[in-house]
Amino acid sequence: MNSSIPKNEETSKKIICFGCSLLCDDVYIELDADEKLNKTINSCFRGNSFLKNAVSESRFQSSFQKDMGLYMNLSIDESLDFVKEEIEKASSIKFYGIGSLSYSSQLAVMDYIKKLTQSGKNVKVENCGNIIQITNKLGLNLSSLGQAINNGDVFIFWNTDPTHSHPKLVGKLLFTRGYFRSSGKEVKKLILIEEKESDLTRLKDINISDLDIEPAQIVESIGNLLASESVKGKNFLNLDELNLTKLKDYIGSTEYGLLITTVPYDIEDSNEWLSHVGKFLKLLNQHSHGRFSLLPLTQNINDVGFSFSVLSVFTPDEINHLFTREKNSEGSDLAIIFGGEYLHDEYKIKEFEYPEKRLILFDNFKSNVSKRAKITIPYAIPGIEVEDIAFRFDGINIDLKKWTNPPSDVSSAEAFFKRLIDKL
Ligand code: SF4
Repeated sequence: MNSSIPKNEETSKKIICFGCSLLCDDVYIELDADEKLNKTINSCFRGNSFLKNAVSESRFQSSFQKDMGLYMNLSIDESLDFVKEEIEKASSIKFYGIGSLSYSSQLAVMDYIKKLTQSGKNVKVENCGNIIQITNKLGLNLSSLGQAINNGDVFIFWNTDPTHSHPKLVGKLLFTRGYFRSSGKEVKKLILIEEKESDLTRLKDINISDLDIEPAQIVESIGNLLASESVKGKNFLNLDELNLTKLKDYIGSTEYGLLITTVPYDIEDSNEWLSHVGKFLKLLNQHSHGRFSLLPLTQNINDVGFSFSVLSVFTPDEINHLFTREKNSEGSDLAIIFGGEYLHDEYKIKEFEYPEKRLILFDNFKSNVSKRAKITIPYAIPGIEVEDIAFRFDGINIDLKKWTNPPSDVSSAEAFFKRLIDKL
């Protein structure tokens, strides 16, 4: 990783990094004379490895089928026929990881799902309801990243460690830390509600840590603190009188506050999460001088785009039927999985391990899932090999440009699913 802006703008290109839902637009690459990636500039460790992997020899060059322990390469046409047959055989199908695709591919996949459901197939889609609830239902105050950077003065990080999930976020939000208003007051304050130590810990002004209580109790305790006349002699949330006073003052004098937290992957967890977040924001806004908004960190790169693509293809009633709360194999005998960073090995989705479940994987890199899949189909990588748009976690749409071509036997997920629709 190199953190400087390139001196020679002729040999470097500004790109959008598709490495996480921050979709950084301040990353550069330098290409050799033969158009091979030489180095990345201003990317984080995660973006750097994402970009380098994408053009490395470990990137899949064509689809392959696994049968009786043997691997066989397939052309795009053969892959289409294989997927079509598997879908015809399946009694029920579940889709995973659509949030890791760029927007047009998501639309093509959702169109395909719609046609499948219209043909009578039982189809479910895993884990989209959480982000849909945020963008569609809640009416929570969402902040844009620009507002957070330019106006934010108090940041509450709640059970999230963006230094790993969105490595450049903290730098962007806090880079003016230490900048003083004309009143002499320091502008940016960081309140951390996090049990474990993380890279954020050293930056905090207040740390509510070592908590042995539920999120609902944390919200309630902070509410009591904000409503109290005096904290004299009090000690709770593992904070002494001095820190309780500071916490009360910071929140009370906030002009533009941000509640930053990670959207849970699981819809059951997300219902609870949404209720805590809603209550927390309400009480913060009751007691602060200005207002608090939410910056929800999504886990898949384009989860927000996913919520838009679902809403544009399906009615609310259809959406209810589509999303599943089933946690095990009983839901489907065929899984169609879009790999992406988070579905590789990090989640270890148990359902993929049921021997009776057949897996069709769309992904570009080796993983535990690719070892189990009946077929693995690589697709053109957005922002590198194909142009499209994606939605940053704050809902702003970002244009992804391509800067190299995919391997000849690799098409975009959008093109693949459009062709699959024609085969229905
Ligand atoms: S923070 Fe995310 S989008 Fe930005 S450079 Fe790192 S991986 Fe890429």
